[in-house]
Amino acid sequence: MPPDSTEIAIIGGGVIGLATAMRLAAEGREVTLVEPNKPGSGASYGNAGTVADYAVIPVGTPAVLRNLPSLLFKRDSPLSIRRSALPALMPWLLRFAWQSLPQNAEKNAAAIATLLMDSLSGWRELASQIGANDLLRQNGCLYLYSSKQAFASASADIGLRTKYGIGQEFLTADEVAAIEPKLPPFEGGGVLFPHAVNLTDPGAMMERLAKAAAAAGVRFITARAERIARGDGQVHVTGEALDLLAKTVVIAAGAHSKMLAAQAGDHVALDTERGYHVEFDMQTPLLSRPVCPTARAFYLVPMANRLRVAGTVELGGLNAPPSPRRIELLERGARAIFPTLGKPDRTWLGFRPSVPNSVPVIRSSRGGSNIILAFGHGHLGLTLAPVTARMVSAIIGRRPNSLPVHS
Ligand SMILES: Cc1cc2nc3c(=O)[nH]c(=O)nc-3n(C[C@H](O)[C@H](O)[C@H](O)COP(=O)(O)OP(=O)(O)OC[C@H]3O[C@@H](n4cnc5c(N)ncnc54)[C@H](O)[C@@H]3O)c2cc1C
Repeated sequence: MPPDSTEIAIIGGGVIGLATAMRLAAEGREVTLVEPNKPGSGASYGNAGTVADYAVIPVGTPAVLRNLPSLLFKRDSPLSIRRSALPALMPWLLRFAWQSLPQNAEKNAAAIATLLMDSLSGWRELASQIGANDLLRQNGCLYLYSSKQAFASASADIGLRTKYGIGQEFLTADEVAAIEPKLPPFEGGGVLFPHAVNLTDPGAMMERLAKAAAAAGVRFITARAERIARGDGQVHVTGEALDLLAKTVVIAAGAHSKMLAAQAGDHVALDTERGYHVEFDMQTPLLSRPVCPTARAFYLVPMANRLRVAGTVELGGLNAPPSPRRIELLERGARAIFPTLGKPDRTWLGFRPSVPNSVPVIRSSRGGSNIILAFGHGHLGLTLAPVTARMVSAIIGRRPNSLPVHS
C-alpha cells in the first residue's frame, strides 16, 4: 500500500502538539497528529495547571548551583536524583551547571521572559477559541515564604521579576490570611501574582483542545512514530501501523523527543525532570487560587472537586517506576499545611521535557526546515503552548517571528 500523506504531521499530542495542531488547522492547513496514547494524557494532564507568566527564573541559577549537592542528595529535598541514573545524567548535569552561572542564567531569564510575554493573552485567546473559558480561573497565584528570612533570601528572584515587569504584590502574613483564610498561621509573607491565570482542570482542558482540533479538521492517528527520514522533498514518518509522508513534520513528543530529533540531525541535550502529583477529593475548596509554599517546590491547587498537590523534581530518566518516597514527600508536605488531609485519592508521575538552560527548543531542524522542533518546555509547557503554536506557525509560514529562536 502507498504511504498516507499529509501537509503537516505533528508527532506528539500533548499540550504543545495539540495547541499547534489547533492553530495550524484554524489557519487552513491540513494537519495530521500522531499520538500513541489518549491525546493530552502525558505531562500535560497532571501538571499544576498554572499559566505562570511570572516564572521568568530558569531552573538553573547561581543559588541553585551553590546548593546543588545538598539539594540533590539531602533526604527529603524537593530536588532529588536517582543514584542509578547519575552516570547517564552527568552530561546533562554538567551543562545544567554551566547554564546556572550568573551570566548564563541572566541570559536564559531574558529569553524566558520574552517567551512569557504573550502567554496569558495566548491562553485567553485559545480558551475562547475552543469554548473553554469556564476552565480558566483568573484569580492570581500566590508564593508563600515561610519565614522573614526566607522572604529576604528571595530578594534576587523578586528583583529579577521586577526587572521583567512582572506584577507582584507583597503581602504580610495577615494579608495572606485575609485572602486565603484556611491556610495555617505562619511567620513570613507572600508574593501575589495578581494577573496570573490557572486551569481548573488540565485534563478537561486537553479533552476540549483535542475535540476542538478534530472539529477544525485535524486528523488523529493512534500510533507511535519510530523513525523519521527526509527524502524527495518530503519527510517519511514510520512506525508500527504508521506510514505517513508529510511536507513538514513537527516534533512535539515532549520528554520523548530526543531520539526523533537526533534522526532529524539535531542532538539536543533533552532529559526529564520527573514530577509528581497527589490529589485529595473534596467538595469545598481549601484555597481560591494556586498556592506555592516555595521551600517545598510544589503547588497546592484547587481543581474541580479536588485539591491537587503537584511539583518537586526527581532526576532519573524515563524508565524507572514512580518513587513511593517522592509521593510520600508530597503527601507529608500537604499535611504539614492542611493536617486534616487523609490519604490521597490518586497519585501520578509525569515527565517534564527539560533542557539545561530551561529555554524550550522551538526552531527548524539544522538538517532542513521541513522538520521543526517544538519541545523542551520543562516547567512551563502548559504556559507556553499557545506561544509555541504561534512560533511554529510563523516558521512554517516563513513569516518573521518577533520571538527569539533558541538552540
Ligand atoms: C508535576 C508537574 C507540574 C507542572 N506544572 C506546570 C504548570 O503549572 N504550568 C506549566 O506551564 N507547566 C507545568 N508543568 C510542565 C508541563 O506539564 C510540561 O512542560 C508540558 O505538559 C509539556 O507538554 P508536551 O506536549 O511537550 O509533552 P507531553 O504532555 O508529555 O506530551 C508529549 C506527547 O508525545 C507523545 N509521544 C511520545 N513519544 C511519541 C512518539 N514516538 N510518537 C508519537 N507521540 C509520542 C506522548 O504520548 C505524549 O502524549 C508541570 C509538569 C509536572 C510534571
